[in-house]
Amino acid sequence: MAESSTGAVAERDVALEGGDSRVLAALKVVSTATATILLIEDHRRTRRFLADNLAADGYEILEAESAEDAERMIASEFPDIAILDLGLPDRDGLELLQDVRGSDRVAGRFDPDIPILVLSGRAGELDRLRGFKRGCDDYLVKPFSYPELQARLLALLRRGRRCQGPGRLRIGPLELDPLARQVWLRGKELKLSKKEFALLRALAGDPTRVFSREELLRGVWGFRSMGMTRTLDSHASRLRKKLARDGDKFIVNVWGVGYRLLDGTIT
Ligand code: CA
Repeated sequence: MAESSTGAVAERDVALEGGDSRVLAALKVVSTATATILLIEDHRRTRRFLADNLAADGYEILEAESAEDAERMIASEFPDIAILDLGLPDRDGLELLQDVRGSDRVAGRFDPDIPILVLSGRAGELDRLRGFKRGCDDYLVKPFSYPELQARLLALLRRGRRCQGPGRLRIGPLELDPLARQVWLRGKELKLSKKEFALLRALAGDPTRVFSREELLRGVWGFRSMGMTRTLDSHASRLRKKLARDGDKFIVNVWGVGYRLLDGTIT
């Protein structure tokens, strides 16, 4: 009905274009301010030093004492970047590096492109070349300067954001490409209808904010009236089911108000 009238479509598109600044703002927040760093380091004092200082710099920190811990966290916690010690108790860090880089983007457990900075006492030229050959993005030798580590991490995060492309939005395990209208959950593409995608994109513009039903109807369908809330609710419910494929809980119904993408936290 009103969904197919040109007026409604035009209004919806305008509303979505207007949402671009929100999408970009959220991208910045997600990629920089709350970037999650995985520390893969078995030396307790070094790990504590890094964790304390990087947390004070505003990063979220995940800590792994072994290659096994690290693999589990890369596969389930989606860190934005990893700092990798090479001398680990269970495996050599270079092997872990190679496994991550060799991982299949779709079927594999790891994001093969996660930026990885090696932080190692192995200082020789051959060691460093070996690190780059196995796929590290940067290599810093211990003992290291903390300000230099900070600068290198920022450079890697900046570069990573550029590679995601303009407007590409990542929220935990979820990635959206607003221009191509594609969505991936843990690297696997989700098939969404146009309306489901538009609804998800609107919510993803500000992942923790509660959007009122009226706001979503206006933005996604172009409806001015509140008479179509059942349409919104059924789309939200279908979208929630599709996003729950791996047991995730997205699209939170805030009773009597509307919806938000996340339940308060970005993981
Ligand atoms: Ca070590």
